[in-house]
Amino acid sequence: MRLIEESPIPMCLYTGKEMKVEVINDELLKVWGKDKSIIGKNLKDVLPEMESQPYLALLDEVYTTGIPQSFKNSASYVVKDDSITNSYFDLWYKPLYDENGKIYGVLASGTDVTEKVIAQQKTEESEFRFRSIVEHATVAIALTKGPNMVFENINEPMMRLIGRYENIIGRKVIDVMPGLSGQQVEESLNNVFKTGKTFKGNEIATTLLINGKEEDRFYNISYIPLFENGAVIYILHIAIDVTEQVISRKKIEEAEESARLAIESAELGSYQINLLTEEMSTSERFKKIWGALNSEIKRSEFASYIHEDDKLIRSEAHQQSLASGKLQYEARVIHTDKSIHWVRVNGKVLYNEAGKANYLIGVVQDITDQKSLQQQKDNFIAMASHELKTPVTSIKALAQIVEITLLQQGATKEADMVKRIDTQINRLTNLIADLLNITKLNLGKLEYNRTSFNFNDLVTEMVRELQLTTLQHAIDCKPFKPVQVYADRERIGQVITNFISNAIKYSPDAKLINVFTKAADSEVVFCVQDFGIGIHPGDKDKVFEQFYRANSNTHQTFQGLGLGLFSSAEIIKRENGKIWVNSIQGEGTTFCFSLQVK
Ligand code: ADP
Repeated sequence: MRLIEESPIPMCLYTGKEMKVEVINDELLKVWGKDKSIIGKNLKDVLPEMESQPYLALLDEVYTTGIPQSFKNSASYVVKDDSITNSYFDLWYKPLYDENGKIYGVLASGTDVTEKVIAQQKTEESEFRFRSIVEHATVAIALTKGPNMVFENINEPMMRLIGRYENIIGRKVIDVMPGLSGQQVEESLNNVFKTGKTFKGNEIATTLLINGKEEDRFYNISYIPLFENGAVIYILHIAIDVTEQVISRKKIEEAEESARLAIESAELGSYQINLLTEEMSTSERFKKIWGALNSEIKRSEFASYIHEDDKLIRSEAHQQSLASGKLQYEARVIHTDKSIHWVRVNGKVLYNEAGKANYLIGVVQDITDQKSLQQQKDNFIAMASHELKTPVTSIKALAQIVEITLLQQGATKEADMVKRIDTQINRLTNLIADLLNITKLNLGKLEYNRTSFNFNDLVTEMVRELQLTTLQHAIDCKPFKPVQVYADRERIGQVITNFISNAIKYSPDAKLINVFTKAADSEVVFCVQDFGIGIHPGDKDKVFEQFYRANSNTHQTFQGLGLGLFSSAEIIKRENGKIWVNSIQGEGTTFCFSLQVK
């Protein structure tokens, strides 16, 4: 009896099948929230809530069978002051026998383990929560235990990241990924375990064996130590694969570096203009090329350095760049010391998402030396061709006189030879005329004499004249609507001649040349189509360049200087028209120009 009463563990002795409370200690009375007045009463009357719990039945079983029972962490509740108190007990029910060996009661004792159970539940709950966070996280997470880094947990993104899909729980990191040995990540991991300090590293280069292939990749990594009783037990691994970002950033850095080197080695000055705010920033070389000594000057001030005669070229180029996206012009700038320098400006317009031009970036180059060399060359060619013109004209006149004289003397054979000399002189005259034209164009001396003229008459006239130069080709001029054009008639005639004589020259085996004109309300389009050798697609844009000659590697040789189309393009450009070509190699070519109708 005293044993029960003095026990620090809640205890009670029940007697009879009805489980009458015979002896009970204070510890248990405290748990139930009762006093000694319950002694002598049956358990089910003392605690009616026992009806809905298994204990009455269990006590009865012990009483009936005589088999003692014990339970761990057994949940029970009692109603105290109208509220329910939950508790957990480690219970032990033992049958008690009388001197005849018959069971007369049950001794119940129980240790209150409520705190322990709740703590355990909390740990389980947080472990469960942690596990589901790891499992559902989109970043790669793993948990390792101990200094050997044994995998405790790993989520799908981490499995993908390390390229291992089999079950690796319970295996050491270094066994799963032997390649890590000696790499920075291995050292960092060990350090976290030793020091208990979190490791955070960005863009850590790591070589991993993924699908049997070694891959160099970059990761942002965190190793977080988790402690138990002050010692590191676990390490939480978090990794983000940043390989693509790192590679593309490196590419951009390399591209920027090579662009910078290219700009430097080409002695280019660079600039950037915010078209919305007009703010302009330039490299030091830009300022040097522009001759702007003051380092803090505005865009409008840079513009004021441009030579008066070239201001229009600049503003038109800027205007056009907004539509085309590209800026290109050559102009003179006057340095602060009054010296004049030629610059070539190139630029690219950048547009924002709304399609509005917001930036202009580009480079400038000092082309003064180039220009002066070009000028010297042009001056020389102009002078030489001019000087050649006089003797060639005299030779031509003399040859014609000799031809007539020989014919009169009946020396037809000799006269024919002189006639051939005359043909060659004509070629020479054409070449000299080409050269003179071009130098005049380059030196800006070609004067334009604009009138309003009937375009149809001009075409018919040219076709008739050029038909005389070829017996092989029929130049078919399709009829068209009469149209008046305001331009330099002679220069336009020169372009038409160039188109048709090229068509004759570059279609040595063809019989037909088509000439057609289309007149609309605002413009007239003129085209010459031949069925000759055609132009290689790569040469199409270049044929309008000075001295450019395509087909130079074909077995046929065609005489020429590569100047005709260049001067044609210059003339059409100055008349505000357009010039273009369509061609299929081996099938033929169509050259066209268009002019505005006024
Ligand atoms: P060229 O004096 O060499 O004829 P052009 O400036 O008139 O000079 O023409 C430039 C180049 O364009 C020529 O060398 C030739 O290769 C090519 N070309 C011009 N017209 C034609 C054409 N109708 N068919 C094929 N190639 C042509």
